[in-house]
Amino acid sequence: MRVLETMSFYDHEQVVFCQDRTAGLKAIIAIHDTTLGPALGGLRMWPYATEEEALMDVLRLSRGMTYKNAVAGLNLGGGKAVIIGDPRKDKSEALFRAFGRCVESLGGRYITAEDVGTTVQDMDLIYQETHYVTGISPAFGSSGNPSPVTAYGVYQGMRAAAQKAFGTPSLKAKRIAMQGCGSVAYHLARHLHEEGAELFVTDLYEENVERFVREFGAHPVAREAIYDVEADIFSPNALGGIINDDTIPRLKVKIIAGPANNQLAEDRHGDVLYEKGILYVPDFVINAGGVINVADELEGYNRERALKKVERIYDHVLGILEISERDRISHAAAANRLAEERIRTIGRVRKTFLPHEKNMLNLGKRG
Ligand code: NAD
Repeated sequence: MRVLETMSFYDHEQVVFCQDRTAGLKAIIAIHDTTLGPALGGLRMWPYATEEEALMDVLRLSRGMTYKNAVAGLNLGGGKAVIIGDPRKDKSEALFRAFGRCVESLGGRYITAEDVGTTVQDMDLIYQETHYVTGISPAFGSSGNPSPVTAYGVYQGMRAAAQKAFGTPSLKAKRIAMQGCGSVAYHLARHLHEEGAELFVTDLYEENVERFVREFGAHPVAREAIYDVEADIFSPNALGGIINDDTIPRLKVKIIAGPANNQLAEDRHGDVLYEKGILYVPDFVINAGGVINVADELEGYNRERALKKVERIYDHVLGILEISERDRISHAAAANRLAEERIRTIGRVRKTFLPHEKNMLNLGKRG
């Protein structure tokens, strides 16, 4: 395939192919944009059928990280890595150490993290070869389980959306339909319950639902019926692709706000929601608590500081809603515009030449 042509389509800066026969490593690191800072994004391990499939995935995901990090207000660019392999049987110490050396060779242009198919233990192996890794064991000073922090960010984003839709950020007595009662949903439900919201919940597993009923007085709902609940807010906490042509006509809510990744089946569904008058809080904006949390490790992790930064998701959501109103575009499109505006503005500010950058001119080597 035409790699450079494909890279130029979405304007990727650099793609690195890593191979180590002894370790069985076949990996690709994609750095999309480093205008705001080093590229941060997770390492996915997946048994891709072809190299082309792996490349397309890493290009798509790294670009997504540029937008996510930019809207989250981080001084980080977008990157991502993939290892081609089966996470259930192809993992080894050598594999992750070989990958770690590949990351190290980039001198900090790319910082890795956990993603689908990789774990804290894998990050600890990578850490033996490079410090450009986040999400390592708390014993090494990392941030630990991201779910409570992600949930706190979702809660803040929901409050901002409520401010816009109902004229108050309070979620007291609001009816909230939650799809999925997993890890992030649990911590989110705690915040919502404490504020006096009424929860309607569903999950694949009965015991997960029962926990929400017991602890938060939630009303159980059949799995498919969650789209039909007459509620103020629909909160996707499980799967991607659930906002689609079949579900949109069924939703009777004012707001969609939840942590699940890739909620829109297709980009055009963002426009459909906008035209229908449903306030959709883009997933990559509202679930950024996880990345804000791991990014704090780069400054020496401090939970309180991380939570303060996550709290600002409230402002990020209001910023997006303002752009949507200003430019009369969907909330999904407004989130992309906010990211692009920040990258453009900060990029301009950072173009000023600084004295410590003089080594790039090799002044010391002259004469
Ligand atoms: P999780 O696996 O703990 O929870 C997902 C829950 O959804 C599970 O309880 C599962 O049984 C349920 N579920 C799956 N399919 C379902 C269906 N069809 N109907 C109803 N319930 C269903 O995962 P999590 O860590 O809580 O993450 C939830 C979502 O948020 C995921 O999409 C994840 O990618 C995204 N996310 C998570 C974080 C984080 O910090 N954990 C950060 C950003 C984004």
